[in-house]
Amino acid sequence: MLALPAHDPSLLAGGTSGPRALRPLLDTVLGALAEGAAARCGPLPAGGPERVRDRLAEAAPGPALPAHGAGAAPALHQLVRALAEGAADPADPHCAAHLHCPPLAVAVAADLAASALNPSLDSWDQAPAASELEDRISRELAALVHPAGPEPHALITTGGTESNLLGTLLAREHLAGTADRPLRVICGANAHHSVHRAAWLLGLPAPQVLPTPAGVLDPAAVRDALLGLDALACVATGPAPALVVATAGTTDSGAIDPLPALADTVAAARHGGRPVGLHVDAAYGGPLLLSPTHRHRLAGLDRADTVGLDLHKLGWQPVAAGVLTVPDAAALAPLGQRADYLNAEDDTEAGLPDLLGRSPRTTRRPDVLKIAVTLRALGRTGLAALVDRVCAAAAEFAALVAAEPGLELHSRPTISTVLFRPAGATDAQVAAVRRRLLVDGRAVLGRATVRRPLGGAPALWLKATLLNPHVHPSDLAALIKLVLDQHDGTDGAPGTDVTTQRDPGDDHQ
Ligand SMILES: *Cc1c(COP(=O)(O)O)cnc(C)c1O
Repeated sequence: MLALPAHDPSLLAGGTSGPRALRPLLDTVLGALAEGAAARCGPLPAGGPERVRDRLAEAAPGPALPAHGAGAAPALHQLVRALAEGAADPADPHCAAHLHCPPLAVAVAADLAASALNPSLDSWDQAPAASELEDRISRELAALVHPAGPEPHALITTGGTESNLLGTLLAREHLAGTADRPLRVICGANAHHSVHRAAWLLGLPAPQVLPTPAGVLDPAAVRDALLGLDALACVATGPAPALVVATAGTTDSGAIDPLPALADTVAAARHGGRPVGLHVDAAYGGPLLLSPTHRHRLAGLDRADTVGLDLHKLGWQPVAAGVLTVPDAAALAPLGQRADYLNAEDDTEAGLPDLLGRSPRTTRRPDVLKIAVTLRALGRTGLAALVDRVCAAAAEFAALVAAEPGLELHSRPTISTVLFRPAGATDAQVAAVRRRLLVDGRAVLGRATVRRPLGGAPALWLKATLLNPHVHPSDLAALIKLVLDQHDGTDGAPGTDVTTQRDPGDDHQ
């Protein structure tokens, strides 16, 4: 093999010679990933933001855009190694703060092909096979969610945020809100912040937020809120249109709103003549559908008008892999757009698929490829096994916490999130434990301010979101020991900077 071409950083990734240009660079990348992970030696780099800044400056000194290039291999090696060394790596069993999954190797390999081929899903002439694949996979994923729908279909999104925005947009368009009688969004205090952002971006009134003291939406409160909208409606214009947004898998605790009762509430209001929609934000919980063991928790999901689910959470995809499903493809019509250079009417009439209505974005990555490869590689049983494993790991972790007198368990996990705290700790101590583990590079745990299941004031909890299907029981026990040691080590020990400094904004987000 000729050694020379690999060093020319202007070589292209496509065509028959692309793979030849890529192969040596991939070796460089894989080597740098391995070296960086070994240098980090843990779930995240030790030393906090300052140390990370210094290490990055050392690894890649000088200007980002030097006068003369360093060449492909050196640039790749330097920066990939530095990023890996400074990564919070969700493949480490002690990196468990967020809905930040360790991606499957097979999905990452597929994503490389997506980058190399670079199809753009805004017109058929940029993505002939990719657009066909997206259509097929979207329909099949949507049929999982809405098996009885007339023509289930889905959009591939960047994630829950975009899915919530599009679900709200479709409701606004279908429910005929007007300037003097806009769509009212009703959601729980447990809803994701992006629901509020969606209303704001779409120029709608701020959502009506219902308290969720039990952690989930109360259907009776939703019914009352819908009835309460009448006070706002004027006789001439009829009842105000509304969108109920429920959550299947809250970000803080993984709780699932009572979907069947909420669907009943929405159906009753509709029956009473009110234009109401139901959007379910199942960004986290949606993939439970893949598991025969856990699927029943999503009963009622099929009755929603729109459902968002993320495969970059319980789906082990690299970001981004969001999906917004509808029971009937016709519901997506409001997103249609014309731009002569992308979907001229005569081209569409002549049979070229019109893709512009499949996203509010224009240039768009084929995120569907990694999803399609993963579905095919693992199949239903393979994916169900991964879902079941992380749910089992969470149950096991919760059992270990419950058996440990030094810790308090919030509740049995619904999906794979476990909230716990050192027994008797103050909120400031809980926050300090989390921060110290982060800064020392020993564990990445999340935080959530929620009430105890039996009520009382909200308290700060440590959050373990278990998304690593290969986590071992001994990893879970070690994580518990890290928290206990950290708490014992800092409890009442003045002079340790992080514990004694209380950040006033810290305890209540
Ligand atoms: C993660 C999450 C979101 C946001 O999704 P992104 O993929 O980050 O845009 C929205 N809602 C819920 C319930 C989530 O868990």
